[in-house]
Amino acid sequence: MTLIIYNLGMVDNYPFHLFNGFPNLYGFSGLDRRSVEREEPNWKQKLLNDPNTRFVLYWRSKSLISESTLGYPSATKLKLEEIPPNLKVTDQNVFLGQKNGLWYVGIDISSVDEFDLNKGLPEDSSFRNLREVGTILDRFDACILSYCRAIFYWQQNNKFCGVCGSKTAISKAGHQIDCIKINCGKPVFPRTDPAVIMLVYDGDRILLGRQSVWKKGMYSTLAGFLEPGETLEEAVAREVFEEANIDVEDVSYHSSQPWPFPSSIMLGFYARARSTDIYRNDEEVEDVQWFTRDEVSQFSKLGKSLPRKDSIARCLIEDWLRN
Ligand SMILES: [Zn+2]
Repeated sequence: MTLIIYNLGMVDNYPFHLFNGFPNLYGFSGLDRRSVEREEPNWKQKLLNDPNTRFVLYWRSKSLISESTLGYPSATKLKLEEIPPNLKVTDQNVFLGQKNGLWYVGIDISSVDEFDLNKGLPEDSSFRNLREVGTILDRFDACILSYCRAIFYWQQNNKFCGVCGSKTAISKAGHQIDCIKINCGKPVFPRTDPAVIMLVYDGDRILLGRQSVWKKGMYSTLAGFLEPGETLEEAVAREVFEEANIDVEDVSYHSSQPWPFPSSIMLGFYARARSTDIYRNDEEVEDVQWFTRDEVSQFSKLGKSLPRKDSIARCLIEDWLRN
């Protein structure tokens, strides 16, 4: 309960009016992305000279995190003069936006050797995976680290042009990548992979499944990636049929969540079951079952667990339990 209150701090600065429910983590940051300013060619010099700029560092899928004496980690936000000389600002960066008078810039220092990594950084900081600390970060910190992670994954995976194979260069404050070959010059923009995730219900029970790679006893909602030429509603129906052989109807939107592991947007739905006999068509799914409201409420007594607290899957289930 303490963590939920912590995440809801500074409510006025977050656009929670956009969603009538508990807002999913990694979203609703209230960050002003300044998409016009970031088009300016000299944005980096301007921000480097601004004392209100703060830098967040990213190294090989990990973010720089500070540990407070109270035990709450936070994103380490450095002033320019606090960045050690061996970690100087490179072209692998992204202007994230502005909030409360501060400008935020992410820097990817993945090319730095592990041996040199921590030289000169604050003593209470270390590089940690957002997967480990996401649930205990302040909402804003979780959002900017998630945003960085998604952008840098995209930058890392577009070092060569998909049309002609030439090298590429980052532009537009980290939000565009261009082929450097003069007679090609193909631009590429950040990509997010849409995935549907759905809570299927049948009266007072819901359909949950598990994959063999998950921790023992954990059950979650079904999910899968949208395919080209498919509506979101069709993707929901297809995935549920593939994974459980259940027909659904009345597919209704719940909420969405950026999910930077590595680059998805999760689109959450509820769907009513039209059939109830389960048959698993997909080898990836180890088990699928109907669980009653009482059973889900007492999962821990049954040796089972729900998905992680920062996930939209957990939100879909808990919202259903409350209603
Ligand atoms: Zn090209």
